[in-house]
Amino acid sequence: MVGTGPGNPEHLSPRAKQAIEEAETIVGYRTYLKLVEEMLRGKEVISTGMMREIERCLLAVHRAGAGQKVALVSGGDPGIYGMAGLALEVIEREGLWDKLEVEIVPGITSASAAAALLGAPLMHDFVVISLSDLLTPWSLIERRLELAAQGDFVVVLYNPASHRRTGQIHRAREILLKHRSSRTPVGIVRNAYREGQEVTITDLENLLNHPIDMLCTVIVGNSQTRVANGFLVTPRGYEL
Ligand code: SAH
Repeated sequence: MVGTGPGNPEHLSPRAKQAIEEAETIVGYRTYLKLVEEMLRGKEVISTGMMREIERCLLAVHRAGAGQKVALVSGGDPGIYGMAGLALEVIEREGLWDKLEVEIVPGITSASAAAALLGAPLMHDFVVISLSDLLTPWSLIERRLELAAQGDFVVVLYNPASHRRTGQIHRAREILLKHRSSRTPVGIVRNAYREGQEVTITDLENLLNHPIDMLCTVIVGNSQTRVANGFLVTPRGYEL
């Protein structure tokens, strides 16, 4: 299970590169496989559209169980809203623990990639929340947003919106505004470290005046976060 990072070969770890090179079969989303296209020559490549995660995992683990070297590729980190958890569950359900070896290769996750492009917003305690309610009840997502807002955590939002899911980011903003000033800095990073990269610094007040879609990661500051010459900074607490 290999994480390819945000989408630039320079941010792909040497082990991730090697694991893909060593594999006979590569399984993953089309978009992520594009990033490693040149490395796929001569290999069997299985890429399916969205929403077919279970089939893809079944295919991957059965090939691996039959002795093939299979790389199951996720963008970012495979263990953060990626394929690693599902793959382990599928291996268990299929009773394949004795038949294969598992290695999980970490990758740079969107939170780190977006934070680096914005400055240093994650210098203090932060939470990561996915706004996708495809697999998680919205009531639970709201509860987590509420508690994160109350706890003055910096909040990193993955899957903030898609064409079908547009209301969640509005609701997330409302919840955050109950506990945080409308001047709270917010960073929006779209396509971090890949073609079409856009980095925007705004605030909770103006958050919705910017286009937000599934290619964006949103970072909402805590009560101490500020903008320093175009960079977001969350003070750690050093006395200067
Ligand atoms: N495993 C991935 C996350 C997959 S969930 C990781 O560790 O990063 C998909 C969400 O990740 C997207 O909706 C978006 O919020 C975020 N994302 C993935 N790649 C991104 C990129 N290059 N720039 C900004 N956000 C990204």
